[in-house]
Amino acid sequence: MNDLTIASGTSLSLPTISGATKVCGLIGDPIEHSLSPAIHNAAFRSLDIDFVYVPFRVRRGELAEAIGGIRSLGVLGVNVTMPHKTDVLRFLDMIDRTAREIGAVNTIVRNDGRLQGCNTDGQAALASLANLRSSLSGSTAVILGAGGAARAIAYHLSKMVEELAILNRTRSKASRITAKIRMWSGTRTSCRSQGLNRASLRKEVSRASLLVNTLPVHVFPRFGKILVQEKLVGRGMTILDVNYQRENEFLAEAQLAGAKVADGLDMLVRQAALSFRLWTGRDAPIDVMRGAAIQARATSSR
Ligand code: NDP
Repeated sequence: MNDLTIASGTSLSLPTISGATKVCGLIGDPIEHSLSPAIHNAAFRSLDIDFVYVPFRVRRGELAEAIGGIRSLGVLGVNVTMPHKTDVLRFLDMIDRTAREIGAVNTIVRNDGRLQGCNTDGQAALASLANLRSSLSGSTAVILGAGGAARAIAYHLSKMVEELAILNRTRSKASRITAKIRMWSGTRTSCRSQGLNRASLRKEVSRASLLVNTLPVHVFPRFGKILVQEKLVGRGMTILDVNYQRENEFLAEAQLAGAKVADGLDMLVRQAALSFRLWTGRDAPIDVMRGAAIQARATSSR
C-alpha cells in the first residue's frame, strides 16, 4: 500500500497495482454512483490481498464487446447491473442453476478460463430478512415490483413462505413470475399476481407479515405513503426495502409503527460479500464492507 499526502494534508492509502494484481469490477450503465468499488476495495485492502475493483461503464449494445474484453484482458470477475443482468446470459460459458432459473446474472466469475454467471441478489435479500426474523416459513409475503430484483427474491422466498403475492404496474410481468414460481416450488406455495394500486395494496398488505419493496427509489414514495396512511404496516411485520438511499422516510414510519425493517444497504453488502467469496475463495470481511458502504453512501449524491 502507498501513502499519498494530498495538498490539504489528508493522507490516502492507495493500492499498489502491479502485473500480478487481479482485476474485478462492475459493468452497467449508469455506474457513477455505485457503492460497490468502495465496498470491494475496502475488503481487499483489509485482507491485504492483491485485487482491485474497477467500475466499467458499458452502454446497452456494447455488452458483447465488454464480455470479449473481460475474456481477453483476464479480468477475474465482475458484478453486473442494469441494463445487462438478463442480456448477459447469452455471452457466458456457464450459468449456475439459480441464475438460470431466475433468468438474470449479477456476478460473473472466471473459472479455468471460462466465464460463469451467478445470481446472489436473492440470497442476499433472504439473509437480510433472516437477520430480522428467525423464520420465514409459514409467512404470507408481498413483493412490490416485478423486475430483476423481484424475480431473484421471489425465487428464494417461494421456497420458504406459504403465500406470496406480487403486485406490479404491468400485471403481466407479475403473472410471469408467479407462473415460474409454480415451476420452482410446485404447489407448495400459493402465489398470485395483482396490479399495483391502492385497492391491491390494501387487500394484500393487510394480510401479510412480510413486505419486500423492489420499486425504484423515484417510484416507491407514492406507494409507501399509501401504506403508512392506511396503517397497513406496523407491529408483527417484517419489511425489506431494497433501495439504499440515505434517508428512508417510509422505513422510519414503519419502524415507528412497530415493524422490523431493513433497507437495501444490508442486501447490497451481503451480495457483495457473496461475490467476494466467489472471486477470492475467502470469507468476506463483512463489517469492513458495511462500514465502507455506509461511508460511501454518506458522501455520494444519491
Ligand atoms: P427493473 O428495472 O428490473 O424493475 C423495475 C420495477 O419497477 C418494475 O416492476 C417496474 O414496473 C417498476 N416501475 C418502474 N417505474 C415505475 C412507475 N413509474 N410506476 C410503477 N412501477 C414502476 O429494476 P430492478 O428490479 O433491477 O431494480 C429495482 C430497484 O432495486 C432499483 O432501485 C435497484 O437499485 C434496486 N436494487 C437493489 C439491490 C440491492 O442489493 N440493494 C440489488 C438489485 C436492485 P413495470 O414492470 O410495470 O415496468
